Amino acid sequence: MHDLILLGGGLANSLIALRLRALRPQLRLLLVEGGPVLGARHTWSFFDTDVSPEQRGWLEPLIVHRWPGYSVRFPGKERRLGTPYQSVTSERLHQVVTAALPPDAVRLNAEAVRSAPDRVVLRSGETLPARAVIDGRGPEPSPALVLAWQKFVGRKLRLAQPHRLSEPVIMDATVPQIDGYRFVYLLPLDERRVLVEDTYYADGPALDAAVLRARIDAYALSRGWRVEAVEQEEEGVLPIALGGDMARFWAGATTARSGLRAGLFHPTTGYSLPDAAAMAERIAAASDLSTDALLALTREHALAAWRARRFYRLLNRLLFRAADPQLRWRVLERFYRLPQPLVERFYAGRTTARDAARILVGKPPVPVRRALAYLWEGSVKADG
Ligand SMILES: Cc1cc2nc3c(=O)[nH]c(=O)nc-3n(C[C@H](O)[C@H](O)[C@H](O)COP(=O)(O)OP(=O)(O)OC[C@H]3O[C@@H](n4cnc5c(N)ncnc54)[C@H](O)[C@@H]3O)c2cc1C
Repeated sequence: MHDLILLGGGLANSLIALRLRALRPQLRLLLVEGGPVLGARHTWSFFDTDVSPEQRGWLEPLIVHRWPGYSVRFPGKERRLGTPYQSVTSERLHQVVTAALPPDAVRLNAEAVRSAPDRVVLRSGETLPARAVIDGRGPEPSPALVLAWQKFVGRKLRLAQPHRLSEPVIMDATVPQIDGYRFVYLLPLDERRVLVEDTYYADGPALDAAVLRARIDAYALSRGWRVEAVEQEEEGVLPIALGGDMARFWAGATTARSGLRAGLFHPTTGYSLPDAAAMAERIAAASDLSTDALLALTREHALAAWRARRFYRLLNRLLFRAADPQLRWRVLERFYRLPQPLVERFYAGRTTARDAARILVGKPPVPVRRALAYLWEGSVKADG
């Protein structure tokens, strides 16, 4: 009998496993992952200011790349911000978690077909009993949330010559605007390796990987880069929240949840590493790890985060519903004229009322009447 089964060995449950192992090593934990490795094949990045100094400390062993700042590019404008940025790779996550946990606390290639508050049933027919289960199996479609999408294909390129980038370019929006707001995201991994993601803030989730690969090739060519090899590829279709009802999203849940399964992500970026770190800390500090207590804790945590992030959903509605898709980049360009601390608070999900006013006032690059209509619609009936 395990004290706790963490179902799904992705980002959120791997962080919970790490924190529990560090703070409560006596706990009989089991991390159950359907795939052959923890974390699948991802690179997760975050700003220093997205997490607390304490979280930054325990995340340190997972960090593979770090940079002192980053830049953004829009037509006729480029800006560097001095906020440190770093990346965690799934390879490192797998390494660190499997080294920290006893060998029998991680089950790989173990796909669950059923989970209940006191057990997980694997495809092989084996039943794993537990005092509690946390479901972290990643995103699950739900009619309770109104979503748009941030979708991308990312390729790790090895170039014939140095790329000459010293820091990430989080948004290069000087590219042709297609399928909503389009930008290229660049992470320089070493002198000749760069992760290039062709990214879209789009209304629909459909992703044509072949088309995006061709656009990455064209982008590399436009920068004069000769590609020697594509070392890895990843793709993502991340949720961007426009509205919805988080209580309905959780209705009927009988086990605790983590990560995207809990509805925990930044509404405007779809990123979830900071939320996953915060949840891992809360669970590791909880006095009661019973099924009921964990369900209440994770549900309340997700509902509180959802309530606190109403402004981001409102902004997303402006971006997706009121702004002309080809001109969405202007909203971002205007945002990036604001002071660095405000930008940092935005990404960290800590935007203040004053920040919100600064983001919204002035001359928004969307038709005012359309904007007002969507602000009203969302704040009154589409967002709970
Ligand atoms: C390509 C990509 C890049 C991203 N980059 C960033 C980033 O830079 N920064 C950031 O903050 N966020 C990023 N995100 C968004 C978000 O952080 C990730 O999606 C994150 O992995 C979500 O964590 P999670 O634990 O909820 O789900 P996941 O990490 O997806 O984990 C779910 C796990 O459950 C397993 N699983 C599913 N079903 C079963 C089953 N039946 N039985 C057993 N196991 C099962 C899956 O195999 C998987 O390993 C990115 C997302 C993607 C897709």
